[in-house]
Amino acid sequence: MNRVYNFSAGPSQLPEEVLREAADEMLDCNGTGQSVMEMSHRSKAYEPIIKECEALVRELMNIPANYKVLFLQGGASMQFAMVPMNLKKKGKAAYVNTGVWSKKAISEAKKYLDVDVVASSEDKNFNYIPKIEKITGDYDYVHITLNNTIMGTKWAYLPETGDIPLVTDASSCIFSEPLDVSKFGIIYAGAQKNLAPAGVTLVIIREDLIPETLPVENTPTMLQYNIHSENGSMYNTPPCYSIYMMGKVLKWIKANGGAKGMAKRNIEKAELLYNYLDSSNFYHATVEKGSRSLMNVPFLTKYDGDKATEINKKFVTGATAKGLVNLAGHRLVGGMRASIYNAMSLEGVKALIAYMEEFAKEN
Ligand SMILES: *Cc1c(COP(=O)(O)O)cnc(C)c1O
Repeated sequence: MNRVYNFSAGPSQLPEEVLREAADEMLDCNGTGQSVMEMSHRSKAYEPIIKECEALVRELMNIPANYKVLFLQGGASMQFAMVPMNLKKKGKAAYVNTGVWSKKAISEAKKYLDVDVVASSEDKNFNYIPKIEKITGDYDYVHITLNNTIMGTKWAYLPETGDIPLVTDASSCIFSEPLDVSKFGIIYAGAQKNLAPAGVTLVIIREDLIPETLPVENTPTMLQYNIHSENGSMYNTPPCYSIYMMGKVLKWIKANGGAKGMAKRNIEKAELLYNYLDSSNFYHATVEKGSRSLMNVPFLTKYDGDKATEINKKFVTGATAKGLVNLAGHRLVGGMRASIYNAMSLEGVKALIAYMEEFAKEN
């Protein structure tokens, strides 16, 4: 069997140990004679699986007692609507526009309330995070995209919002480094980047932000945080298998030093790659120093125009042949993008750099 180094932006690589364990338990999980996929979500066999997953989320993120942990469906994209639908009171929210996912969150929110885009990095094709000291105003919440998967930026600081709840899309950086949950009203993340297979969305929400009744008339039951909260994420059938896999990934994170351990591992990988890019006269990173993501690293070569298109294609084809896959850049940035989530090993990044050096010499 030949495992590749998978640099996909998502769904992405999972730790090999986790996949092996899941494979071992495929036909018979914990002596039940069933796969987790076949279990009733209300059975004695399944209950400890979701409970343990929640306990691990709480432990590893150090979540204060006044926060709920929910396992929902619909991806981060569903949260783009659920957040305004549930948090709307005065009818206005502040958003920072740092790229594609922010824009999608903004356009969805506009269906339910007024949106002020209080800062944006669109002037430079989103290659930096705007500097804003303090956000004030009559806002129901402030929304930021903590790590911008496509543009390769991350918030290295958090804006001051005073009493206004700070809401964040942490889909592509959750558990990549420690996060002070108490600074946020809501943290949400689709699982398929750093946590589990697609299908489950982790939502961490401060209890006082969960409304009894929703301001938007006839909101579907499934879009109400209180319904999921009151029912322990079991109002309907949860994505059982993805939650089981998340539990396994979290155990792997715990065994590897928790969020701090992940940060150490991720900083080492990212520094190696950025240092190489900064010292190269063939490649360069697209993102400004100080705003660079630990997880998604877009880069270009020295060529532009048609020659760039040709070279990028050659790079990706050659990489694939060496077992380094999914390195094509997003069309909005061009070039290449290496997503180096938690599960990517240091060896994987070293293999990528070795290939990049060889390719630069030949081209
Ligand atoms: C992938 C991604 C999304 C979309 O997630 P879905 O689960 O597919 O809805 C949203 N925001 C960010 C930052 C992402 O990386």
